[in-house]
Amino acid sequence: MLTGCMLLSLRLYQLRGRLRKQRQELAAALEENRELASRDPLTGLLNRRHMLELLHLEQRRCLRGVRTMLLAQLDIDHFKSINDTYGHGVGDLALQTFADRVRENIRSSDVFSRWGGEEFVLLLSDTYVEGAMLTLQRVREAVQNAVIDGGPVSLKMTVSIGLAAHIAGESIEVTLDRADKALYCAKRAGRNQVVLGTRTQSNETLSPAGERL
Ligand code: GH3
Ligand code: MG
Ligand code: MG
Repeated sequence: MLTGCMLLSLRLYQLRGRLRKQRQELAAALEENRELASRDPLTGLLNRRHMLELLHLEQRRCLRGVRTMLLAQLDIDHFKSINDTYGHGVGDLALQTFADRVRENIRSSDVFSRWGGEEFVLLLSDTYVEGAMLTLQRVREAVQNAVIDGGPVSLKMTVSIGLAAHIAGESIEVTLDRADKALYCAKRAGRNQVVLGTRTQSNETLSPAGERL
């Protein structure tokens, strides 16, 4: 009788252990799934959907005065010609090289995402425009100096960047639009540069250095 009870408790103990292990495996699989759904598979960066969620969360924090935020739009220059000249595989390698160089030159608290194609969005929290401009110039130089090792060919690329400071209360879309206009200005001014967009300026009145014309 006693042996029977002991055997039964042992069995229950083993069953509970197995259940616990299965629950942990399920939680890990769910987490992995969530991680996969929020990342761009080519570069490993956050994808646009996940970044937008995060930006809306940050926007609410800015509204409560808890944080400040700056947003930068980055777009690789003449990327189509890299694809057209060397093929899609080298284009993909350029995107990965680009993502690595940017990651190496930002703070771990900054959030970098692939917005689509060869366009990227960077969130810089709790920093000043001056500091962000220095960071972005460093990023621009690192991209310019990077060598894309495409087997028999090695090539270089440049990036244009538009920066905008989020104004508490405005929508994320409005800040992104301002960064996009500054990016357009950087392209129009010859590419491979960083331009700051400000709230009262349209792209018609910005100089490449972001000063009023
Ligand atoms: P600009 O300097 O004005 O930005 O010119 P651009 O050539 O970079 O811009 P455009 O928008 O004309 O071309 C973007 C190209 O990016 C076109 C598309 O084929 C390529 N592209 C988008 N996504 C991927 C991708 O995942 N892999 C590769 N290899 N190419 C991609
Ligand atoms: Mg481009
Ligand atoms: Mg583009």
